[in-house]
Amino acid sequence: MTTPVKRILQIFWSLLLLGVIIFFAYVPAFVDRQFNILLDMKAPVLPDSVRAFHSSLRAADMHNDILLWGRDLTEQHDYGHTDLPRLHAGNVRLQVFSAVTKTPSGINYQSNSDETDQITLLMIAERAPVKAWYSLTERALYQADRLKETAAAFPGQLTVISDRKSLTAFLNDSSPGKIAGLLAIEGMHALDGRLENLEVLDKAGYRMIGLAHFFDNAFSGSAHGVKKYGLTELGKQAFHEMEKRHILIDLAHASPRAIEDALELATRPLVVSHTGVRTTCNSPRNLSDDQLRRIAATGGLIGIGFWEGAVCDSDVESVVDAMMHAVEIAGIDHVALGSDWDGATQEELSADRLPWLTAALLNRGMSKDDVRKIMGENLIRLLLATLPE
Ligand SMILES: [Zn+2]
Repeated sequence: MTTPVKRILQIFWSLLLLGVIIFFAYVPAFVDRQFNILLDMKAPVLPDSVRAFHSSLRAADMHNDILLWGRDLTEQHDYGHTDLPRLHAGNVRLQVFSAVTKTPSGINYQSNSDETDQITLLMIAERAPVKAWYSLTERALYQADRLKETAAAFPGQLTVISDRKSLTAFLNDSSPGKIAGLLAIEGMHALDGRLENLEVLDKAGYRMIGLAHFFDNAFSGSAHGVKKYGLTELGKQAFHEMEKRHILIDLAHASPRAIEDALELATRPLVVSHTGVRTTCNSPRNLSDDQLRRIAATGGLIGIGFWEGAVCDSDVESVVDAMMHAVEIAGIDHVALGSDWDGATQEELSADRLPWLTAALLNRGMSKDDVRKIMGENLIRLLLATLPE
């Protein structure tokens, strides 16, 4: 080889190596920072009595996507909405952590096919196991492992609960600053089209599974899919199997027909982990009054989101508007927090700002007992009643 060619090759390999280093070292954090925006907001002045009341709550939230981004849970960040220090600062005792396994590019609320996927590159950049590069079930297992590994390494900060016994033990444990995590999944495509994988995910500790995410899958249509069909035959089988296994069925993102099918089949409480209500924010992913009423009638729970797509703004008053309406229609025992923290959302209410929501609910005249229910007790009660022994 002539010297100039050698030299050019040397430069080429060096640049490639540099690219690889940058890719693995910076891409996950860069993507995380781009997608999960903490909006500036002027901090309200909270009376000490409100802060003290908030500290007396057991706050619990139904939906957080942080596991997707590879973010270090144990350190406080200046972007996104959560990490263990900020959850602790907001007095969150219980957090549902949801695994996201596939999202189409050009993602929107109207119509998405399943042909593209943005998560593969993120899995590679996060150095997830090779199996997680192509299997959606493996991606869910990888995200569950991230939570479990953090809990094992920092037992004073985090515990993963998966049954009544572990939840009860956690509630009786008075260690301050410890947070309980429950595993959930966004969309049944995480089963890779195979009903058998339900057992795999059950064994991994998953206790809440959404029928669909942004596209129609082999089990259910999505509110944002192309065809938006209801439950398929396979979906109906999976529905019964999830009820049998005491896995909560989440209707967030499900098509109206799938919600209808679920309401018809349900013999156990149904949940909507993160949503808005059509009366205050008319969006294809939000619930009608009729749906609110019927989901509540299953003994279920509706988690109200904190982001613009759910409440048509991201300020705390819009969140309260949606909550007040949900309470009016579904009843006070059926409304909860469904933040969608770190779900590629822009939000003002990060976990550490949760006392602002408590203050806003009290300002609207809601009683302390009712605020307690919405902020966490409803979710804790539902889990104590529905988790496996
Ligand atoms: Zn979602």
